[in-house]
Amino acid sequence: MAGGGRARPNILVTGTPGTGKTTTCSLLADATGVCHINVGDLVREKGLHDGWDEEFECHIINEDLVCDELEDKMEDGGNIVDYHGCDFFPERWFDCVVVLQTDNSILHDRLSSRGYMGPKLINNIECEIFQVLLEEAKASYPEDIVIALQSDTVEDISRNVTKLTEWFNNWRPRRSS
Ligand code: ADP
Ligand code: MN
Repeated sequence: MAGGGRARPNILVTGTPGTGKTTTCSLLADATGVCHINVGDLVREKGLHDGWDEEFECHIINEDLVCDELEDKMEDGGNIVDYHGCDFFPERWFDCVVVLQTDNSILHDRLSSRGYMGPKLINNIECEIFQVLLEEAKASYPEDIVIALQSDTVEDISRNVTKLTEWFNNWRPRRSS
């Protein structure tokens, strides 16, 4: 059940790589005092993967190990989880699921300047065009906790952080009756 026993909510921020998840989450963590969990970094630091994918140049994440690693923290609440995937986390973990979205040409420039090219670049742009993360979020969580936010400009980031900070501060635990 959403909010089951937590004193503070958990937020998931997802979206195609380059849409601004880590930037948004760091600012939101500063504004609210929530713990920012960058799942990609966690996977690298703790070795929660099954090796390296040569084609897409990324670790093959071990979803079970990641969920085991995070379970206790998520039960406590007050976390913001940052990852470009969302279908393998337990549904009960999150009170709000944010999907960041970016205009295709803006995203293309961001990923190119990050050094992405070839299949990795194409795959990520297609992921954004086909709204893969939004569909994955809608398929994995209750519709009323999933929100899509545009992340094209720095003004968008400020507006999104303000909106999510307000949501966080207004959140109240569910009564268990
Ligand atoms: P993600 O964590 O989703 O991969 P990042 O937060 O690392 O994305 O952002 C990738 C790059 O794009 C960074 O250089 C960041 O400054 C820039 N960026 C992200 N979102 C925006 C935005 N809404 N406006 C301008 N630049 C952005
Ligand atoms: Mn990131």
